[in-house]
Amino acid sequence: QWIYLNNEFVKKEDAKVSVYDHGFLYGDGVFEGIRMYDGNVFRLEHHLERLYDSAHSIMLKIKQTKEEMTDIIVETLKKNKLQDAYIRIVVSRGVGNLGLDPFTCKEPQVIVIAESLALFPKHLYESGIDIVTVASRRNRSDVLSPKVKSLNYLNNILVKIEANLAGVSEALMLNDQGYVAEGSADNIFIVKGNVIKTPPGYVGALEGITRNAIMEIARKKGYDMREETFTRHDVYVADEVFLTGTAAEVIAVVKVDGRVIGEGKPGKTTNELLGAFRNIVTVDGVS
Ligand code: PLP
Repeated sequence: QWIYLNNEFVKKEDAKVSVYDHGFLYGDGVFEGIRMYDGNVFRLEHHLERLYDSAHSIMLKIKQTKEEMTDIIVETLKKNKLQDAYIRIVVSRGVGNLGLDPFTCKEPQVIVIAESLALFPKHLYESGIDIVTVASRRNRSDVLSPKVKSLNYLNNILVKIEANLAGVSEALMLNDQGYVAEGSADNIFIVKGNVIKTPPGYVGALEGITRNAIMEIARKKGYDMREETFTRHDVYVADEVFLTGTAAEVIAVVKVDGRVIGEGKPGKTTNELLGAFRNIVTVDGVS
């Protein structure tokens, strides 16, 4: 496996970064997770836009243009002979001294990793998953906007720990006002009749690329698709609940905090949207 690391391709075993990299020392950097389906990189421009916007927001200047970054990604995929893959781009602040000051870092480090995909087990898409809400809260738009996909994922990791301790695979974060925000690495949707809701970004959710694709599909299909705040109660009483993300795609949630959702199995709308999503992933992107 070949990894792109600062202008060269190195073998996985040799892909190493300095302990003085501020990405390592402080989580100072940004990243993206992207998928290639059957030779087509899904919505690459959207992911690059979010990456560059995240970097801009934390005053990190990526030297490569978006076009150059696209070439790097395509080359990484070719070099690893991949057709279906998960692609991770990491841009860290780079090597500096031990202090916090990012201006001691001379140059950002750019890393692209592409691997064949470890798909979620098929049975989970058929059965749906159980989730819980956790004590960890999602920041709203305070200093670090949740829209920035930064390398600092400790909050999300705490959520994952809480999920593991509860014996479930994913958990939901509320924000400091008690509104539902998102999962540890995915967005949430609830369905009630013809109305579908997902929390707006300002509640404290990353504006997921999958989320946005699902909103477009839902509107095209005639659903009343809304970006609106909601609480745990609304989740408990929804007809259907599902999560979206690059890795998870669209996955049904059948139990939340022990409350069975709808009929306790993936619902009609969730399946319809997942089907439509899988139909566009091989055509809507860069091949
Ligand atoms: N929320 C968080 C915190 C994430 O890390 C991710 C994953 O990227 C998502 C939501 C889903 O976003 P996307 O659909 O762009 O993968």
